[in-house]
Amino acid sequence: MNNPILLNGYTLSQKKNEDLKKILVKCPSLSLATILVGDDKASHIYVQAKIKACQNVGINPIPVFLSKDITEQELLKKIELLNNDSTVHGILVQLPLPDHLNSHKVLESINPKKDVDCFHPFNIGNLYAGVSDFAPATSVGIMMLLDSIREQWSIESKNVVIVGASNIVGKPTAMLLLQKEATITIAHKKTKNLKELCLTADLIIIAVGKVNLITKDMVRKGAVVIDVGMNRIQTEQGTKLVGDVDFENVKDQTFAITPVPKGVGPMTISALLYNLYFLYQQHYTKNNNDLR
Ligand code: NAD
Repeated sequence: MNNPILLNGYTLSQKKNEDLKKILVKCPSLSLATILVGDDKASHIYVQAKIKACQNVGINPIPVFLSKDITEQELLKKIELLNNDSTVHGILVQLPLPDHLNSHKVLESINPKKDVDCFHPFNIGNLYAGVSDFAPATSVGIMMLLDSIREQWSIESKNVVIVGASNIVGKPTAMLLLQKEATITIAHKKTKNLKELCLTADLIIIAVGKVNLITKDMVRKGAVVIDVGMNRIQTEQGTKLVGDVDFENVKDQTFAITPVPKGVGPMTISALLYNLYFLYQQHYTKNNNDLR
């Protein structure tokens, strides 16, 4: 078999970001509010990466850092102010929130027209009804990666097994692939015979957070494998980021595969910026500043 195609999300995201930067020259005032509650180290790193990505393409980031002790009412008030500020085009709340805050209620308070993460029930509803392909950023990033090999491999009619049924990755990705007329199975922690199921797949997408959950004997020859998992492991050289797939042993079995790092991760950030531009095009330009 030929060498597998390495779906390098780092390179693709750089290209996508350059393309967007050229488009955004025409709308220099585009802005994204990034709300971070508390001082979780990993969340800080993610938010900083999003802020930097905004700056690189000419989007104006509005960082909002809030104390971990903020009350739900205070946070909702802050979001309301941003909802009513016509200079703010997108709002994201970095998850997870501290336990005393109700994430669902907080996400629901964001104006759907500014809901850059596509976590609001209105936007998710449209995605699930098949009337919109606006979706959470990781799912959009996965579709961008698959689109990059569309000349050699098309989604239509493929059997897809998605391992992991979360609202931020597994379920919305299933909806986007269904819109492309693939056949989808979603597996989760109670799924029986995961190996047999995976062996039926032309495309495996895994988003669980368990090292080496997908091994060579679970992947049929010529399948495409997208690894969303992010796990930090200790090695003699220090901490290392790995996915959910036993990459070294699985790769030769595949037609195309994402590495970790430099796979889905950078695409998620790039897709977030495209989501902001999508919202801007949909609601801001057409409706004459009507963002409330
Ligand atoms: P989650 O915890 O919300 O969901 C995990 C899912 O995996 C659940 O549906 C659960 O039932 C399923 N699961 C657990 N154990 C399983 C098993 N043994 N077999 C089959 N299914 C099992 O997780 P999430 O937020 O979707 O994140 C999943 C992983 O993806 C994490 O490693 C996370 O860090 C990573 N992630 C990466 C990106 C990115 O941009 N690369 C974005 C989001 C999440």
